[in-house]
Amino acid sequence: MTEPVGGLSHLGFSEFFAIQLADAKEGLVPARVVGQHRRQWDVMDEAGVRRASLAGRLWDPEKGSVLDLGQPTVGDWVLLRDSEQELPVIESILERRTSLVRAAGGRQRQVLVANVDFVAIVVAFTRPQSSDASARRSLQLRRIERYVAGVRQGGAEPLVVLNKADLVEAPWERAETVKARLGDVQVVPTHCKSHEGIASLTALLAPGQTIGFVGLSGVGKSSLVNLMSGSDHQRTASERTADARGRHTTTHRALFETPGGIWLIDTPGMREFALADASTEDLQAFSDIATCAERCRFRDCEHRREPGCAVREAVEAGTLSLDRVSNYQTLLEELKQDEKSKTTARGQRLRRGRPPTSPDEWDDD
Ligand code: GDP
Ligand code: ZN
Repeated sequence: MTEPVGGLSHLGFSEFFAIQLADAKEGLVPARVVGQHRRQWDVMDEAGVRRASLAGRLWDPEKGSVLDLGQPTVGDWVLLRDSEQELPVIESILERRTSLVRAAGGRQRQVLVANVDFVAIVVAFTRPQSSDASARRSLQLRRIERYVAGVRQGGAEPLVVLNKADLVEAPWERAETVKARLGDVQVVPTHCKSHEGIASLTALLAPGQTIGFVGLSGVGKSSLVNLMSGSDHQRTASERTADARGRHTTTHRALFETPGGIWLIDTPGMREFALADASTEDLQAFSDIATCAERCRFRDCEHRREPGCAVREAVEAGTLSLDRVSNYQTLLEELKQDEKSKTTARGQRLRRGRPPTSPDEWDDD
């Protein structure tokens, strides 16, 4: 089976997916998942958006989707049977080019978004106030670093969006401080009301590319998506609370196009984001610490109290930040936990990715 890439390329279809069609059964056609419901998905192809369901044999009442890749996720390319019918059937998920996977405290892994080129890690400036401002800033930096590592691990490129730039003086200077700490990551301050920074953000993306927005609830993800796509697709937090009950039945559309042909994926707010499946090499945001650690006397040095620890020495000499080192240690600890979970039965079940039974389960808030 061969399908020209051309017609779907503006939707993000590329050679990577086209070659997977070679093994596909006759009569199946690709479409992209743009929204998610309890047991159905909104899918899009050249003909537009339709509702689709998962083939009955691929659904287990207890486990949900029994596909190796778990359940279809926004951004996925799926193969449809009966694509002309009112409710076409999803027969398989094409291998993901990139994904952002979350392992949230003790719960199953979730693929938050699939096949994104970029992930915008959105954080919001807060009004400078109390004495613990610097502690909060450092916590926020740790959170950003954690996301950066997770995004790279899934194969996408991280961007940091510092929204609500109106709440602080000199946001671009602050952005520089964040950039200095993160190294090779674009950092863009934005202000949704004045549209400041939106053009800089859009300029980083090319037509046909997809960008996912992640971050805590209330930082302005929906506002950014609305602004970039030029319409009010996504209801912002205040509108959502107004009909908090009603939203269980409302459409959960999550992928939108900008006038310039860029695809935006909004994700529900998250409280925590634990790394899944990361390996030590994936902690690229900490490559300087890793390099330094090569000079530690012990190969398995945990940089706590071991003699001859080059990392501790660098902290004392002021060349490494203590805060970053402890964040690095936390991430390494999580990696070990994740490794452990892979070898236990429960961990393996979790790793199969039983999906949430409703879209609302995705929302931690
Ligand atoms: P989400 O939960 O991340 O999708 O956040 P929303 O887009 O719903 O925004 C949360 C709240 O922040 C809303 O009341 C927005 O009006 C407000 N907001 C969004 N962007 C900005 C901004 O740049 N500056 C300020 N001051 N408020 C903003
Ligand atoms: Zn050490």
